[in-house]
Amino acid sequence: MGEHDGRNMRAGLPAHAIEVGTEPLARPTRNSVGGWPFLNEDQRWPDCFCGERMVLFFQLDIPSDDIPSDLEPFGGDHLLVFHCRAHNDASDPQETDGRLVPRYWDAPQPPYPRPFWRVLLQRDAALPAAEPEPSLRALPLTLRPFTDAPAWPGRGAQTFKVGGAPSWAQFPEYYLCACGTELVYVCQVPENMEFAVHPGQPEQPYSGGADIYGLFLGNEVYLLACPAHCDPAAVWPVNQH
Ligand SMILES: [Zn+2]
Ligand SMILES: [Zn+2]
Repeated sequence: MGEHDGRNMRAGLPAHAIEVGTEPLARPTRNSVGGWPFLNEDQRWPDCFCGERMVLFFQLDIPSDDIPSDLEPFGGDHLLVFHCRAHNDASDPQETDGRLVPRYWDAPQPPYPRPFWRVLLQRDAALPAAEPEPSLRALPLTLRPFTDAPAWPGRGAQTFKVGGAPSWAQFPEYYLCACGTELVYVCQVPENMEFAVHPGQPEQPYSGGADIYGLFLGNEVYLLACPAHCDPAAVWPVNQH
């Protein structure tokens, strides 16, 4: 039994279900699909290596209450998930000496020169960008506390959520950050989650339809983040299906 199995899984773990609203947003909101990204003052809106500005898929404030104890270092952080529209593929962890490679958020992601996504944890994101994400319909997100009651062997609900336990479509995956700290599971995006697109936007290759964008080829996404906050982008998106 490793340390990952030692939690009180039978009683369940505190979590927040992330619910996507239906009323389009007319103004900046911290918890949103698309919308106006809240970034630190020194953080630019990320670009892909292909030159396209990345799409803001969603952002939210990580709650400070009703979260598992190992999420406490992230309480109050602002999580943003960006991903290129033109590149739609699965993530592929690159490791060296048992750790993710140095600056893995910028390192080559064969066959690509860099990752086609950027996940950020921002701790001083006070103000929204002047303009919203242009391609996705901006929708509100609501976080609702629930008890994630993992089924044996310790897998949580297969939902859009913060905290709880990953549902692990395959074997659990654990990674050491390049800084040597063990990454901690923070947020899960369910398989084939669809993000509605405004009419007239360029299509995303391999997505579920002309008016839909998705993340990582529709793989389930488990976001593992560095509790040492060694870099705002020190988050690894595990992909499984
Ligand atoms: Zn790209
Ligand atoms: Zn780190």
